[in-house]
Amino acid sequence: MGDDGERLLDAFFPYRRRFATRSSLPAAGVGRAEVLAMVDEMAREEDAIARAGRVSGSIYHGGEEHFAFLAEVFRRFAHVNVLQRDMYPSATKFEGEIVAMVASLLHGGDQACGVVTFGGSESLFNAVQVYREQGRERGIEDPQVVVPLTGHVAIAKAARYLDVEVVHAPVTDEYVVDLDAVRALIGPRTVALFGSAATYPHGLVDPIDQLSELALEHDLGLHVDGCLGGLILPWGERLGLDVPRWDFRVPGVTSISADTHKYGYAPKGTGVMLYRSRDLRRRQYFTYADWPGGLYASPGIAGSRSGGLIAATWAALVTLGERGYLEIAERIFRAGAEIRAAVDALGELRVMGDPTFCVAFRSEEIDVYHVNDALKDRGWRLNSLQLPPALHFCVTLPNTQPGVTEQFAADLRAAVEYAKDPPQAEPRSGAIYGGAGTPEGNVQVNAMLEGVLDAMFELAPPV
Ligand SMILES: *Cc1c(COP(=O)(O)O)cnc(C)c1O
Repeated sequence: MGDDGERLLDAFFPYRRRFATRSSLPAAGVGRAEVLAMVDEMAREEDAIARAGRVSGSIYHGGEEHFAFLAEVFRRFAHVNVLQRDMYPSATKFEGEIVAMVASLLHGGDQACGVVTFGGSESLFNAVQVYREQGRERGIEDPQVVVPLTGHVAIAKAARYLDVEVVHAPVTDEYVVDLDAVRALIGPRTVALFGSAATYPHGLVDPIDQLSELALEHDLGLHVDGCLGGLILPWGERLGLDVPRWDFRVPGVTSISADTHKYGYAPKGTGVMLYRSRDLRRRQYFTYADWPGGLYASPGIAGSRSGGLIAATWAALVTLGERGYLEIAERIFRAGAEIRAAVDALGELRVMGDPTFCVAFRSEEIDVYHVNDALKDRGWRLNSLQLPPALHFCVTLPNTQPGVTEQFAADLRAAVEYAKDPPQAEPRSGAIYGGAGTPEGNVQVNAMLEGVLDAMFELAPPV
């Protein structure tokens, strides 16, 4: 293999020259000290860029002490299967309180209820499934959901699994859902509308008040995807920011997803799915009465689940408390405003919509993927968007360290200069998006993405 091929392999499998690659169990167990030294080395190197505050999204809290504490709590219940409540009644306390705390933050009142899920994708799966069931009860055999183009792709994934059709509503010049389009798309097969607070691509809140009117008028479900914004926007409102109403105070909202593993600062692997009524929640349950293995009941997709995650999520919520969340949010919104100002200061770039904590920008003059290349070279990791090409910086606690936004402003200015006269025509970070958006192009891009997924389960090739 040529040098380029070797370099590519080293990038994908950076440990292949350092640690043994195992294709079967070691005959005798590897010593714990050796394993700990190995994982320490990997974790230290992989965390460095996030710790420095140069990553968009992904690491929402990043505090070493906070996570060491959560790991302490996790350790006590890591082995616990929360399905077995007779043995582990603590899980009932933790889950009930996680749901209640998040519901109360989102103005759920006495009626709202919910479940703890393994994250946004499961919550959205539950939403699609529940509204499909409700539709079937009303005689809709071939259900459809109306989803903004900027709605999270996990909705499309759920719809594929569940054989529900997604019809996409375009967004306006402000990048929030176009209400006229939604109205026009509602038909006899529609079972639910979706909106986001906030959208993953652009960090914007869809007009939930008006979606609510449409949902009430047509007697449809309305799910608000608050996976990203659900645990940060309420603090923005308390801080006096102009956050449109989007939670259970809006009468037509029937369910909300909010991820504890994002701005809840819990370990990865938990989210909350809330329903306006118990009646709706029941439609996501699975119970089975005549299995030789016994009576079976599970609230969502997962079977066995670790008590550690639930305990640690509960611990994150109760140790931070209102004051903790508010203090972090204040820093995040301030940094968000600074990043927005840094983009606004550059005539070549344009902020998309009116964001507060997740700032997306595009350009009509230069290729933003070239901008991303130059930012990458300076150690930043932003998220690339497409249709249209854009980047976003989703601000998290590590980004609020002193000097980070100032450095970003300077590096962004330099990156724009680079993009005006790039050394090569094709941006490195844009290559993957080049083909998307057309049917033939999508076939090629999907094939490449499948190849990447295959590669994730390959062993490192021998050196
Ligand atoms: C992250 C995210 C999701 C998906 O959540 P996972 O926890 O990654 O499954 C869904 N919706 C929005 C708006 C998100 O930001």
